[in-house]
Amino acid sequence: MTESKTTANVATLAPPVLILLGPPGAGKGTQARMLEKRYGLVQLSTGDLLRAAVAEGSEAGKAADKVMKSGGLVSDEIVIAILRDRLASPDTAKGVILDGFPRTTVQAEALDELLAESGQKIDAAISLEVDDEAMVHRIAGRYTCGECGEGYHDSFKKPKVDGVCDVCGASNMKRRSDDNAETVAERLAAYHKQTAPLITYYEKRGALQRIDAMGSIDEIATTVSRAVAEATRK
Ligand SMILES: [Zn+2]
Repeated sequence: MTESKTTANVATLAPPVLILLGPPGAGKGTQARMLEKRYGLVQLSTGDLLRAAVAEGSEAGKAADKVMKSGGLVSDEIVIAILRDRLASPDTAKGVILDGFPRTTVQAEALDELLAESGQKIDAAISLEVDDEAMVHRIAGRYTCGECGEGYHDSFKKPKVDGVCDVCGASNMKRRSDDNAETVAERLAAYHKQTAPLITYYEKRGALQRIDAMGSIDEIATTVSRAVAEATRK
């Protein structure tokens, strides 16, 4: 009984389309992989989409290839055309998570029009929200053992002996140069500036889901799952 009901639901429902928004360091990749595993969704990042379309040699892929080879930016029209092809392919039948597109409200409008063609819409724009100051502290405090790769942190995970790896005993700690406080703060500011109009756009349409992304990976995954389940329940 339950089975036939499920089948009927699947047949009548358009597959969910989600957008994942979040600054670098918020764990967007981890959450996307969790959603892929749990719901069979496929993550579509703009870079992967373009590369695949070019490799496949589709009409839109050829157009994209030409622009990229001349060093230009691929137009919204081409990206939308590639996305149209991709959303019609069988592997996205359970739904998709868009990552990196849309970036502007113009793109968001074009995307809404594309989805409307097949009776779809953005079911949820999931915004992983971080506390900027805590985020700077978290990222800027990271370092790793240059020998074995063990991760450490100035506040959260210090080695027993300062500068000496607990695991392998080497004293060759490394910090990524782009993990300093100033660079992290700049990255966050750029993210907020770029994303603010999109947040407003999806908030107005009742599709925005704000998720506190400062907890543990599991806590965030639970909240994200709940939001997705809610958004895709018809
Ligand atoms: Zn080590």
